[in-house]
Amino acid sequence: MVNPLPENIKYCPRCANSLVWKMDGGRERPACPTPDCRFIFFGESSIGCAGVVLRDNKALLVQRGWEPFSGTWQLPGGYVEQDEVITEGVAREVMEEAGVEAEVNRAVAFRHSLGGTAGGPSANVYIVFALDYVSGEPIWDGDEIANAGFFSLEEMGQMEGVQGLSRWAIELTLNSNDSQGLRLQHGGSMATRPGWSLFGIDMPDPDLL
Ligand SMILES: [Zn+2]
Repeated sequence: MVNPLPENIKYCPRCANSLVWKMDGGRERPACPTPDCRFIFFGESSIGCAGVVLRDNKALLVQRGWEPFSGTWQLPGGYVEQDEVITEGVAREVMEEAGVEAEVNRAVAFRHSLGGTAGGPSANVYIVFALDYVSGEPIWDGDEIANAGFFSLEEMGQMEGVQGLSRWAIELTLNSNDSQGLRLQHGGSMATRPGWSLFGIDMPDPDLL
């Protein structure tokens, strides 16, 4: 069997023991033989997020100041830390990049991609949320972010370098309402379980949770 996991993953990142190959979940994976460690290398992945923040039918965009794609316009967003609640992560990125306070309303799209560019093969899930505008005028640092503002679709049509994925997600959000998409669930034992952020289609019957 061809194993796509890298041969140079040799040592356990938790206890530094030498890893061995072990069958787990239908595939041979580098695994730690230390009995009370039991680390298994499932490969590398990351979670990205972006926010569609609308105000008066205009969407918040930021212009990248750094490579790659310096000068292009996109939704504010970034990586979710592995110990961060995802709804807080996307609100943090919107605030950091554009100075706007906003709160997650629903998830409108996600993309799964294979093949990262930094450091070798990796998988990424990029989740686009619609956020409700709360307060603040766009401000930016002039370094990582070269510009920011609220723009209508007509205005985006006149701008150079608006990312296709961002524009698509903005159009989805503009053409849907609050009851469409996946909404953060607030009721029931699963929705309040520590560490969980549970998203689902809103149902009229609360007993479904
Ligand atoms: Zn270990």
